Amino acid sequence: MTISLGTASAAPGELDTGRLAVGEARDGSPVRLPVCVVNGASDGKTLYVQAVSDGDELNGLGVLTRVVPELDPSSMSGTVLVVGIVNHYGFQVAKHRNPIDDTKLNRTYPGDEHGSTSERIAAATFDAAKDADLIVDLHQGSTSRMINEVRVRCGRRHRMHADCLHLAKVFGCGHVFDQKGPDGQLARVGPDEGIPTIDPELGGSVGWDETSVQKGVEGLFNVLQYYGFIDGNADLNPQTRARGFDQYGSPVGGLVHFRKDLGDRVAAGDVLFRVTGPFGEEKTRVTAESDGIFWRSRRLPQVATGEYVCSVGTDVDEY
Ligand SMILES: [Zn+2]
Repeated sequence: MTISLGTASAAPGELDTGRLAVGEARDGSPVRLPVCVVNGASDGKTLYVQAVSDGDELNGLGVLTRVVPELDPSSMSGTVLVVGIVNHYGFQVAKHRNPIDDTKLNRTYPGDEHGSTSERIAAATFDAAKDADLIVDLHQGSTSRMINEVRVRCGRRHRMHADCLHLAKVFGCGHVFDQKGPDGQLARVGPDEGIPTIDPELGGSVGWDETSVQKGVEGLFNVLQYYGFIDGNADLNPQTRARGFDQYGSPVGGLVHFRKDLGDRVAAGDVLFRVTGPFGEEKTRVTAESDGIFWRSRRLPQVATGEYVCSVGTDVDEY
């Protein structure tokens, strides 16, 4: 059966790229998201993958540029549907939010085909995602520094929780963040439709980070192998899971000096960072309130009083 997404249309054993229309820009030119359909020669599951729903998160796009050219539909089973750049407007100006409606696109799912620009993009992409068997929404910790992790956002009481956790384990970044996300996330809405959905957070960087892009490439191939799209055996490895987040801000203004690195174990009472003045004079030390893993940190050293500095993943176990 021929499978279409926007103008991309692939018969069994074919791959096609095309464009998915989501409206017009302010100058009246069409806005059409880049899409790809990989239709395997034999029947199987359908995987929906998207990237850049936050316009400054480019590692997922880096993953797609490496994975899609490696896919040979003549030897594949099932279908892979890809939207390469979801937040068209944010991507154009390298901003996180959609500048047209100043909205974070990943708060607008399942979208509204008659709504704002973000809601229309969400509706058009969710229309493709909602018939899939698996959804992978590629993100990163934006331009802050963050470990490579996979988020499960449906919440622990959701009927799809175990399936989402399993998909996160198959992707296999090593760390999983398991906490119900805010309304409007694709990783919330997908499970509501009965579709295991994960939100891999591929580090954090300005532009492409080689290590994180490679993690994403391996993760996507793990999914493709494990669920039978391509040959091969994906190894399942134990994942370190955090179920909470402690966020730390600076009690003073100055320059942050971290005492922990991303991925480090943290014990309650450990110094997370010092803040100094411009000549190195120490103004304060901030210590961890609970045990966990040093998960995320700001990129720039200068902080104002109350400004975000870092996060510790808490309530940690392994599965
Ligand atoms: Zn994101």
